[in-house]
Amino acid sequence: MHAETDRIFRFAPSPNGELHLGHACSALLNHDMAQACGGTLLLRMEDTDTQRSKPVYEQQILDDLRWLGVRWTGPVRRQSDHIADYQSALNRLKKLGVVYPAAMSRREIADFVAGAPGWPRDPDGAPFYPGRERELDAAARQKLLGSGKPVAWRLDISKASKRLQAPLTWREHGRGPQGQTGTINCDPAAWGDIVLIRSDGQVAYHLAVVVDDALQQVTDIVRGHDLFHATSLHRLLQTLLGLPQPRYTHHHLLSDGEGRKLSKSKRDLSLHSLRSGHSPADIRNLIAESAKI
Ligand code: GLU
Repeated sequence: MHAETDRIFRFAPSPNGELHLGHACSALLNHDMAQACGGTLLLRMEDTDTQRSKPVYEQQILDDLRWLGVRWTGPVRRQSDHIADYQSALNRLKKLGVVYPAAMSRREIADFVAGAPGWPRDPDGAPFYPGRERELDAAARQKLLGSGKPVAWRLDISKASKRLQAPLTWREHGRGPQGQTGTINCDPAAWGDIVLIRSDGQVAYHLAVVVDDALQQVTDIVRGHDLFHATSLHRLLQTLLGLPQPRYTHHHLLSDGEGRKLSKSKRDLSLHSLRSGHSPADIRNLIAESAKI
């Protein structure tokens, strides 16, 4: 068990748009929980989506957080600076034989799925990978790797699950979208063969988040309900990589009054636009309901 003052929290926005009220809720919860136990709050930029991440958004996020009164410790970790860490995690998974190179492009997958009604999808709605490269023998795999075709590295969810020695669980300190709390049974198979490293060499979120939380010695993950189901996958990757299990607390997502989740496209609810006409205390009041765990 960690001493209360050793607890490390993190806020990990993706700098691909403006922060909205939902992010403010997450940032303030992490900040307040860290303060309450005398722990530490870290800030991490999850900027591996090179198409959508922009320095201007990162600057705006730093500005908005400071205005809100969120204070963090140490330098900001930027995922794009740490590709070697993710590659080394991938190498460990290669040694375990639970990953494979997959050559179908996003377009090819979409075309396949368009002709296959009812094709299974993961909790985020992405179709399961329809390619068959997981079945290639070592020689055929080498041939594919030598062919010059861009390949992504995918987790073989079936092989990975078979390596588990005990059923996977996590302890939920908040509540899930259906009120789940306490010990939660993981269901990583619901995610299919997810991408770990993209065909352009960039790391995908699920691998990066697990590696970074361990490297930064994060003890407490406080994030929205939208990532509740992803925790199954994160627990699987932690177990395969021999990484410690943090405490998980998932919080409510803010809705727009009609029950719809707030999204970055709703510019009117961006923190930046709310800053004219509202004080940080007003923002705390606006999110008070959702900020209850
Ligand atoms: N970067 C993710 C987001 O902005 C958050 C990831 C996490 O908290 O695990 O939604």
